[in-house]
Amino acid sequence: MTVARLALCKILSSHLPRLHLPSAFSSASRQMSIAAALKNSSIFRSQGLIGGNWIGSHDGKTIQVNNPATGEIIADVPFMGRQETSDAISSAYQAFHSWSKLTAAERSKYLRKWYDLLMSHKEELGQLITLEQGKPLKEALGEVGYGASFIEFFAEEAKRVYGDIIPATLNDRRLFVLKQPVGVVGAITPWNFPLAMITRKVGPALACGCTVVVKPSELTPLTALAAAELALQAGIPPGVLNVVMGNAPEIGDALLSSSQVRKITFTGSTAVGKKLMAGAAGTVKRLSLELGGNAPCIVFDDADLDVAVKGTLAAKFRNSGQTCVCANRVLVQDGIYEKFAEAFSKAVQNLQVGDGFTEGVVQGPLINEAAVQKVESFVQDAISKGAKVILGGKRHSLGMTFYEPTVVTDVRSEMLLAREEVFGPVAPLLRFKTEDEAIHIANDTNAGLAAYIFTNNVQRTWRVSEALEYGLVGVNEGIISTEVAPFGGVKQSGLGREGSKYGIDEYVEVIFDAVN
Ligand code: NAP
Repeated sequence: MTVARLALCKILSSHLPRLHLPSAFSSASRQMSIAAALKNSSIFRSQGLIGGNWIGSHDGKTIQVNNPATGEIIADVPFMGRQETSDAISSAYQAFHSWSKLTAAERSKYLRKWYDLLMSHKEELGQLITLEQGKPLKEALGEVGYGASFIEFFAEEAKRVYGDIIPATLNDRRLFVLKQPVGVVGAITPWNFPLAMITRKVGPALACGCTVVVKPSELTPLTALAAAELALQAGIPPGVLNVVMGNAPEIGDALLSSSQVRKITFTGSTAVGKKLMAGAAGTVKRLSLELGGNAPCIVFDDADLDVAVKGTLAAKFRNSGQTCVCANRVLVQDGIYEKFAEAFSKAVQNLQVGDGFTEGVVQGPLINEAAVQKVESFVQDAISKGAKVILGGKRHSLGMTFYEPTVVTDVRSEMLLAREEVFGPVAPLLRFKTEDEAIHIANDTNAGLAAYIFTNNVQRTWRVSEALEYGLVGVNEGIISTEVAPFGGVKQSGLGREGSKYGIDEYVEVIFDAVN
């Protein structure tokens, strides 16, 4: 970087977090300035966290973190493996003895403080998410609020981990049920929600007395490290929260093979989830899995067209189609199909694509080149089998990993677009005639995470939502995730629930005491 540009970065950094830049500024320069400013902030960390110390990898190896919108290197972070993970497990194991002995009220206070710090650094955390993940800043700020809400909710829930007293079968006995923390938890998370997928796990784990080793995706570790820095600033003791990143299979194996780790909680692809499930058998660990989806979004003839278009747009194009609950198949009834396709395409055409820091942009880049190639191959497969691209269908003229928001009609169940998660900004429209047919198509998959229906018929609402084999169903609504409701899938979309009063059950053992 030239001296002049460095000086400019410094001037700009003094304007953060409310940064207003001249429009003549190129996207790349603007993002470099934001990155430079963030690097000077009190939350920026680029080393792993073990036992309260920020450390590099034992052999000095690092890995680059790139900005998907520009390709710029944001930072180098340690490429850690088995040895660092073992150290992190030992720290978490040691810290467990004292953390689990605190009262629930004490743990609650730490979590509350952490929540306050996350919220007071909302702007910087949002910028960090946009920088390393690519989602538009407004969406990133939404993720910070959503992610922090799990820490707030579980700060409160910490105080409500109730046991039970069971009427005894013998007069001289008293039977007590206690809930105790499972122990050290290994939490492995994906890149698409760099903050929220971590807080959804760490919040309940810490609340009930567990300690954690987090492994964020190598693509988006900086948000995780910033959140961990804020946990330290909140006074959460060293070793309670540890972060390692780098060689994913090695880190995974170290967590799986350790008898000190009592639980693995994972969010990511179904393929990796299955490997972890098999690996957890060796030490008979508890397991929670939040895996891939193939969400149907069913628009019935009796739907309100505007509501259906708005809801489908939100369900499909959030994070450029890169969420596990994104509508993957839009099933539209015969009578409304043409009208819906036209209105929906018009709405999709208005989605502004660009770097996440530009005002008005709602579609950022895809996470990497492999993601774009996957989208391209799915669209090609559909075209070769008779589907029609009525909007988009190719890489965006912005280059990098930007892809045009796309609508494909005449999609059929045998096409890849309908069988697997496309994880990109492509909406495939399938046609159906009857309610039974829609339910059959929707359930004809091994996934079962989220589904959406659009109808104004109340009886149909109940009938269809209960017939759908899915963990979450949105009715006339495309955004349904909240910290107060249980989130999780059925079938091969996973095991267990996150968030809500049910989320804490994943981190406790139910212990029974019979007292004479
Ligand atoms: P992924 O490839 O499965 O990666 C998820 C995490 O697992 C990353 O931290 C990754 O590390 C790590 N990993 C990869 N191989 C591993 C191994 N052998 N052992 C241990 N860890 C390993 O998934 P992704 O591409 O990041 O995320 C997209 C997927 O996540 C989609 O299928 C999406 O539906 C799913 N998802 C599900 C939910 C839900 O709540 N159900 C939420 C969000 C996303 P590296 O990145 O460092 O390689």
